[in-house]
Amino acid sequence: TKYVYKFTEGNKDLKDLLGGKGANLAEMTNIGLPVPPGFTITTEACRHYLESGAVPAGLDAEIEANLKELEKSMGRRLGQPDDPLLVSVRSGARFSMPGMMETVLNIGLNDESVVGLATQGGDERFAWDSYRRLIQMFGKTVQDIDGELFEDVIDELKAAKGITNDLDLDADDFRQLVARFKEIVAEQTGKPFPTDPREQMTLAVQAVFDSWNAPRAVLYRRQERIPADLGTAVNICSMVFGNLGMDSGTGVAFTRDPASGQPGVYGDYLQNAQGEDVVAGIRNTVPLADLEKIDARSYEQLMGIMDTLENHYRDLCDIEFTIERGKLWMLQTRVGKRTAAAAFRIADQLVDQGMITLDEAVQRVTGDQLAQLMFPRFDDVAAAGDGVHRLGRGMNASPGAAVGKAVFDSYTAVKWSRSGEKVILCRRETNPDDLEGMIAAEGILTSRGGKTSHAAVVARGMGKTCVCGAEELDIDTKNRRMTAPGGEVIEEGDVIAIDGTSGQVYLGEVPVVDSPVVRYFEGEIDPASDQADDLVRSVDRLMHYVDAARRMYVRANADTPEDAARARRMGAQGIGLCRTEHMFLGDRRQLVERLILADTPDEQQESLDALLPLQRADFNGILDAMDGLPVTVRLLDPPLHEFLPDITELSVRVAVAEARGESHENDLRVLQAVHKLHEQNPMLGLRGVRLGLVVPGLFTMQVRAIAQAAVDRIKEGGRPRPEIMIPLVGTVQELEIIRDDAQRVLREVGEENGLELDFPVGTMIELPRAALTAGQIAENAEFFSFGTNDLTQTVWGFSRDDVEASFFSAYLEKGVFGVSPFESLDVDGVGRLIRIAVEEGRAARPGIKLGVCGEHGGDPASVHFFHKVGLDYVSCSPFRVPVARLEAGRAAG
Ligand code: ADP
Ligand code: MG
Ligand code: MG
Repeated sequence: TKYVYKFTEGNKDLKDLLGGKGANLAEMTNIGLPVPPGFTITTEACRHYLESGAVPAGLDAEIEANLKELEKSMGRRLGQPDDPLLVSVRSGARFSMPGMMETVLNIGLNDESVVGLATQGGDERFAWDSYRRLIQMFGKTVQDIDGELFEDVIDELKAAKGITNDLDLDADDFRQLVARFKEIVAEQTGKPFPTDPREQMTLAVQAVFDSWNAPRAVLYRRQERIPADLGTAVNICSMVFGNLGMDSGTGVAFTRDPASGQPGVYGDYLQNAQGEDVVAGIRNTVPLADLEKIDARSYEQLMGIMDTLENHYRDLCDIEFTIERGKLWMLQTRVGKRTAAAAFRIADQLVDQGMITLDEAVQRVTGDQLAQLMFPRFDDVAAAGDGVHRLGRGMNASPGAAVGKAVFDSYTAVKWSRSGEKVILCRRETNPDDLEGMIAAEGILTSRGGKTSHAAVVARGMGKTCVCGAEELDIDTKNRRMTAPGGEVIEEGDVIAIDGTSGQVYLGEVPVVDSPVVRYFEGEIDPASDQADDLVRSVDRLMHYVDAARRMYVRANADTPEDAARARRMGAQGIGLCRTEHMFLGDRRQLVERLILADTPDEQQESLDALLPLQRADFNGILDAMDGLPVTVRLLDPPLHEFLPDITELSVRVAVAEARGESHENDLRVLQAVHKLHEQNPMLGLRGVRLGLVVPGLFTMQVRAIAQAAVDRIKEGGRPRPEIMIPLVGTVQELEIIRDDAQRVLREVGEENGLELDFPVGTMIELPRAALTAGQIAENAEFFSFGTNDLTQTVWGFSRDDVEASFFSAYLEKGVFGVSPFESLDVDGVGRLIRIAVEEGRAARPGIKLGVCGEHGGDPASVHFFHKVGLDYVSCSPFRVPVARLEAGRAAG
């Protein structure tokens, strides 16, 4: 096996083997860009080392041979005393893992070669600065020494000299620092700092290998769902120096604005510095455009290279570069990260420029990005205006715009929101006890914790606006107040506004507007008109394309005519789940209660007769809103007790009445009945098809209402297409009984009206047993709809209503899963059952229609899976319909 590739031997498609950085360094080298020569040790070598604890046989020899060649081409040996070749040893995995692994610069320096470097570079200060950087980085990265120890020494020296800027340190200072740093290394490791250049390099390579398994890298991979066994490549790259004076420098650049997507010059530049200084933020960078004045020739060349890169990668690239005494060097490039809006704009622009096809363009945007563009937002103009007061800024943990009164504990959040107030829950950090308050609040603000903190994770899960880690705000929950860096004190009840997209926190209200993208989907903005900006036009163009490309239909979950109409405007091609439970609440609850508690068939019939016309009107409205499109109505599903009075309240009432000697016969009767029906585990109890089998007449009343509503619609000239869906079926026998009833009712109503009502009757697949016996079930079902919420619940044995609050945050933190299985389908477990049911269902009934109606129907990754297993449609909440359309189209591409 070949373990080492020269930059001239690799290319950008070898990311698995060379890592992202190595593959792109090779690519740049081969298209003729100025990359300092070097070579890459493969991820395969790393994997071998991590598995066996030793580098593979032959690796050392290969490195040696490549180093020799490098030295020959550079005309200098590594660490050569009078004119040293120096190299950097850089990590670089298949997927970018920002800041997770290590890089060591200036390998090859020691007490002799530092003199050579000074002579050749004509600058003592530079040479000793480079040397102390080596000891510092090597000590931290390779020898595991606490970086603070070095930083402290620098700070002490600066304090002693009364200076604050590193640029004011002179050659002698750096010489002193080198001496001190060497002492630190000796103290901490018990051995002198290694002065043999070759040994430095070997140790650095191993340290980079080892950094693959550093705890923070392991955690990061779990969270980002990056496989644990890929390993990292190691790049050995000859050093170029941005710290050789003011005609040298280092910078980062983007080929277009990663925030807006607009073309232009974006980046930062720092004179007289080495690469890591830019990110470390010790000194202030200047905007890249200023480089034109500093060094016009390098600037022109850089602009040319950026064009070359964009044309070559056919996408936005970000780059790292260094200028050494007026000579430009490229040190890194990759296809750059960008915001959601930029992603759509760039994809669209690149199509215009003829760089990519529409097919490629839709692969450059994601449903998550589209969802982000659909959150309401603060009015940009107002937020920038004088009337608005900024308090501070945190991390943009979960997008959206929220305005409300500041509250500092969960209890107050709940209490105030119950009385109709909008609140923002402000906490130092949140924990599971805050969940109720988080649910009640418009948004969540914390002063501690990052994007994976409890607040951030939970808020994103709930789709709630969250700004976290706003450390400049001092949140004092004890005294219920918060202090901003400007000195403003926000007391409980003061109105604040938080922007989860930018992380900004404002005092007072900031006007909120619907996102233009939503207004476009709602039909309020015509993409061809002046009202539409380029973002809306980009979205429109890509949506047209995916709608034509996708195989799956997209339906919505909706159970009111308004929701149905909205979903239709958003592009829904029917209703995949019309729940009927809300139709039994409010005033109608009494009727249901009477139905359940009825002593005689007559009493029962009375309740059913009262419910029938109400249900009929419900369905009429929905069928009207979805005229011509399928509407899957699910017969009543939730546990019976949800329709009965609360057991505790009722007991108290009975006890009080008893104590006062008042009459309470009816309450007592109800209480007894409620006791009888009480269940420990209602979600596994009397619900779904079981209700239909136990409560006589309930399901047939619903089917009759559907049939009559359809007849009404037909008589009015409509084209109703109801589908009757039976929930929670575990065995074909349950289904058979209810289906026979339903078909009989359809026949009866049809005959009464001289019509043939052959509406399909099907079932949900939401229990493991149903999936495993799908072949039998399919013989009696005209369609399946996968209820992936309950299926996830029953496959994992998780109670959906409880786990989020109790242990999911711990699971997410420990990386048991990267994302909740209720959010994104568990393909290995739940998905396997779906596969089985699809195969066996289709085998038993070739034309069977298959869809999904759980939350997963609007989740990007899950939509791809549903496409792959061959479902006919996905159904999701109206707001997610555009996301599902996009992802279904991308999946088909
Ligand atoms: P990261 O992945 O953290 O960006 P890099 O390997 O890119 O790590 O290196 C860290 C910094 O050092 C970057 O700014 C990079 O440009 C700079 N750097 C790396 N190798 C060299 C080199 N051979 N000469 C000059 N600067 C370098
Ligand atoms: Mg880098
Ligand atoms: Mg269900």
